[in-house]
Amino acid sequence: MPTAASPDALRRWFDYDTHASAPAAGSACSTRSAWATVPPPLDDSLREHYRTRIKTLLHRENAVLVAHYYVDADLQDLARETGGCVGDSLEMARFGRDNDAATIVVAGVRFMGETARILSPEKRILMPDLSATCSLDLGCPADEFRAFRALHPDRTVVVYANTSAAVKAQADWVVTSSVGLDIVASLHARGEKILWAPDRHLGSYIQRQTGADMVLWQGSCLVHNEFKGFELETLRQEYPHAKVLAHPESPDSVVSQADVVGSTTRLIQAATELDATHFIVATDMGILHEMRMRAPGKTFLAAPTAGNSAACKSCAFCPWMAMNGLAGLANALEHGQGEITLEPALAQAARLPITRMLDFAAARQARVQASGDLEQDMELYSHVGAA
Ligand code: SF4
Repeated sequence: MPTAASPDALRRWFDYDTHASAPAAGSACSTRSAWATVPPPLDDSLREHYRTRIKTLLHRENAVLVAHYYVDADLQDLARETGGCVGDSLEMARFGRDNDAATIVVAGVRFMGETARILSPEKRILMPDLSATCSLDLGCPADEFRAFRALHPDRTVVVYANTSAAVKAQADWVVTSSVGLDIVASLHARGEKILWAPDRHLGSYIQRQTGADMVLWQGSCLVHNEFKGFELETLRQEYPHAKVLAHPESPDSVVSQADVVGSTTRLIQAATELDATHFIVATDMGILHEMRMRAPGKTFLAAPTAGNSAACKSCAFCPWMAMNGLAGLANALEHGQGEITLEPALAQAARLPITRMLDFAAARQARVQASGDLEQDMELYSHVGAA
């Protein structure tokens, strides 16, 4: 049975979910401030001006653009056209680490910029807007997480990538939604009990899939948490042949109806490969840009986030992802604004659990699956130390 996080964290979540107040932790901006600073749509000539300018600046600064699937389509296109990367947070982390550019510009949210900083201490890391954060990060302050950990000293600490460097530094493993399930399955096979943070839906999904003994922090993503299972049933009746693609940060009532559950990369792959013409998609709608590009001719419907009486049936957009715009990106490159800095000792402490994840993912990619055999698995991770 999952154990709840501290009352303070729960209170923060209540406040946060109801938008009654913005959390103070992290000094990042609230959803209201985020929406207020989302760049307005640009006319075609201004968009072209920025696109040309950014390409020149990327070259001048020996910089590469790394963009998440949830950010504005213009930024995704620019990353692709200039030899950068569009991906999920695992792919972004890997690409930034392995690329030779002197500057990495991260179009996403702050924890992604911090991860790039942690993995590439010798490079300059810029972001279009440093106050772009994540509700999961905000809902898991490092001091409260430390207290939570102290209650469970016998557990292996596994934290989702959507956390601050100060939380990652306390973890044995950092995971993304691409590899979280496999890593927990491997730890479970080794007989380890898990302390999981911060997303309760993803943690609960992994717990159900693996049978692992997990204690869960009670955070959630403000986008995925809003998807409604009952409304999804109604939409499925309207489109009986549609396949449902769901990110595991969604509630169980949604995930249990999905044909495919997985990371953004996995969902895009399913949209491309599955033999269906219609898809209902339960994740941030920014992903539809890539899906429509890779699967032209197919129809993608937003999973419902609201009830029957609501004016808006689906509002699945992350306000912090939406803060990334062309003007902010050009400004960061032109003036070196929006640079991510971290205390070297903190970055070093956070590097080990991230490196474990990347090594695990690399081993998996090389089809060296963790077997659950203690001896074999320990050999895989021996060079990064015991977790
Ligand atoms: S979509 Fe959710 S998990 Fe992703 S950055 Fe936004 S708040 Fe965080």
